[in-house]
Amino acid sequence: MCSNNKKYHVAIVGAGVMGLTAACTLLKTYQASAIDITIISEAFTPNTTADVSAGCWQPYGLKSMNDLILKWASYTYNIYMAEAFSNKAAKGGIMKVPAYLLHGYKGKFVAEEGADGELIEKPLYGSLVPHFRKLDQQELNGFKHLEPVSGYVMTTIVVEVRKYLKCLTRYLNENVAFVQRRIESLSELLNGEYDIVINCTGVQAKYVVPDDKVKPARGQVIRVNAPWIKCTYEFQTGDGFGYIIPQTDHVVLGGTFGMDDWNQNEDKDDTKMIMKKCTTLFPSLKNVQVISVDIGLRPLRDTIRLEYELIKSRNTENDVHVIHNYGHGGSGVTLCWGCSKDVVDLVRKIIPAQNERKAETSTNAVEQHEELWNIIDDNELIT
Ligand SMILES: Cc1cc2nc3c(=O)[nH]c(=O)nc-3n(C[C@H](O)[C@H](O)[C@H](O)COP(=O)(O)OP(=O)(O)OC[C@H]3O[C@@H](n4cnc5c(N)ncnc54)[C@H](O)[C@@H]3O)c2cc1C
Repeated sequence: MCSNNKKYHVAIVGAGVMGLTAACTLLKTYQASAIDITIISEAFTPNTTADVSAGCWQPYGLKSMNDLILKWASYTYNIYMAEAFSNKAAKGGIMKVPAYLLHGYKGKFVAEEGADGELIEKPLYGSLVPHFRKLDQQELNGFKHLEPVSGYVMTTIVVEVRKYLKCLTRYLNENVAFVQRRIESLSELLNGEYDIVINCTGVQAKYVVPDDKVKPARGQVIRVNAPWIKCTYEFQTGDGFGYIIPQTDHVVLGGTFGMDDWNQNEDKDDTKMIMKKCTTLFPSLKNVQVISVDIGLRPLRDTIRLEYELIKSRNTENDVHVIHNYGHGGSGVTLCWGCSKDVVDLVRKIIPAQNERKAETSTNAVEQHEELWNIIDDNELIT
């Protein structure tokens, strides 16, 4: 029983990677008697943006880089890395892989829309991972058909998001209510039914908030059967930027970065262009079996909005605590656990500390994260 006998009703709007990781982090933090969570969403996995994504850890496709982003990225990396060596790896589709980041084509640097402007110098996130180094000339020569100007190799994590979100949903199913519902405006939830509303609506925050700063950056990818590819590659060609990211049982070929483009249908020209770019690196992809062509809208914003707002309730005296968490561009999978921790730190200012679960013996974030999975039988997490 929580000490002040109040049960806090929390609505999380959105069941993408942000909504689900926020719900998991709340459950890990609070006693069940203190909190009642409802996830309200128009769509669920496998129909969210992250389900389209390649799930590769790398801060990318953001308008700006800052210390907060690096903090969220680092926190998330450490969690994935620990999970990659745990029994969650099989069912969650979590793989530790080498990533080659190649810059330039035929001896010249190519400027790109959507790139973070840090392609030649060592990216700031390089210091977050234990293995990140510049390729020497001999290694670059291994890609002589591309003639990159420079390049890096790092150890990254690929999360096969469809598998991962399924595991999180399995955990959440035991503990939260899921409601399939489209809301037109956040104000629909500000009627006193909920004490706290956490807004994880991705690109739709543009209309739901509304927030004009949010814009879609359309991404199209092709999923193919190419089991011989085991590393991730980000590279440039005469036709622009491409990437190849293996999953546990297929490979994702990308990509596109269409600013302000809301088209959610396949663009056949994009499909041809992605194949052309990827076969420039791997000619063996030419006659490969295509599994699907997928499109998603990255929620792009000048800065990620992770922010508290107190909004007047529509029909009660009480104000409603709203926490926004959207605008993660091409990096939602890379940042989700770090952002969710900060969302819950904002919730901590609302729900009194005595409602939290007993202090865990460890102060180590990764060990604390393990709490999340305890409810799922170990055997269920192994294929
Ligand atoms: C092609 C592509 C490749 C990518 N690759 C990577 C990658 O390798 N690594 C990486 O870190 N990131 C990658 N991303 C980016 C990543 O997918 C996004 O940053 C992330 O999915 C955003 O998550 P989200 O939960 O904020 O939004 P979403 O996944 O869009 O979730 C929003 C949720 O809100 C719900 N919702 C929206 N509006 C309403 C409404 N009005 N009423 C009710 N519910 C609503 C939706 O149904 C959904 O459940 C990629 C994206 C694309 C498109």
